[in-house]
Amino acid sequence: MGLRTDFIWMDGTLTPWDQANVHVLTHALHYGYAVFEGIRAYECVDGSSAVFRLKEHTARLFGSAKILGLTIPFTQEQVAAACVETLKANKMAAGYIRPLVFVGFGSMGVNPADNPIRLSIAVWPWGAYLGAEALEKGISIRTSSYTRYHVNSMMTKAKAAGNYVNSVLAKMEALADGFDEAMMLDAAGYVAEGSGENIFIVKDGVIKTPPLTTVLAGITRDSVLTVARELGYEVVEQFFTRDEVYVADEVFFTGTAAELTPIRAVDRRVIGEGHAGPVAKALQTAFFKVVKGENPAHADWLYKYGL
Ligand code: PMP
Repeated sequence: MGLRTDFIWMDGTLTPWDQANVHVLTHALHYGYAVFEGIRAYECVDGSSAVFRLKEHTARLFGSAKILGLTIPFTQEQVAAACVETLKANKMAAGYIRPLVFVGFGSMGVNPADNPIRLSIAVWPWGAYLGAEALEKGISIRTSSYTRYHVNSMMTKAKAAGNYVNSVLAKMEALADGFDEAMMLDAAGYVAEGSGENIFIVKDGVIKTPPLTTVLAGITRDSVLTVARELGYEVVEQFFTRDEVYVADEVFFTGTAAELTPIRAVDRRVIGEGHAGPVAKALQTAFFKVVKGENPAHADWLYKYGL
């Protein structure tokens, strides 16, 4: 996977890739006090390119920063424009965009004090996060032995860097045990989300996903819920348990990186027929139509740009 591009946007300036560095005494590196986004740009069927739901991702970045009490020294419009500028500078017609707001070098100690708030935007090509085959055949997941943090331990609505220690632990555990991903339960024991994805189940034609109480407000989650309602499916946002997942007809993850990834087995119990089910397939097709500009009803979710 080539992470190397020509430029990374740093604090307002397009900077050559190998000069986009920070000092080892950067506060965020020690305490995880940073917030970030993950955004995708797709090539559209008309030959143009489009960033998917750029406005919503930028708004979530600012929301995450607000939750952590970080003041971003740019406007939302400037950050959104900088994402597109970075794609163009790197001649990328499609790819992944990673804005990162972090507490920079200054004083040490837990209090971020007067340290500068810095902002970088990197882009790189990123194919299917869980593998191209996963989108087709589905993945196997395990219930994590790590609990998703309590809502008053970490801020679940913030896409904060430090929150991802929990995700990394869960992901590494799942991979070490031969699974593709983790299913994380919340502090009350209900199903919450994956290490970097929202989770859905389908039972008797009804689509269910946990409410936003303990999970990240996924933008793919919102897009898939919207499209599912438009296709006439019944959708509910409701807590459910791991055994409800075992007996579901279908299970799938959503996320900017994971897109819509079907799940074929959970804790070694085969789900449905053991491959992508009809609802997951229909929603995946509808989702890819939207991101590639084939659904005019959602043209407003696309920020078009040309190289
Ligand atoms: N939950 C977590 C913990 C995540 O990291 C992500 C990825 N950002 C998601 C859910 C899905 O969110 P989105 O669809 O906005 O990428």
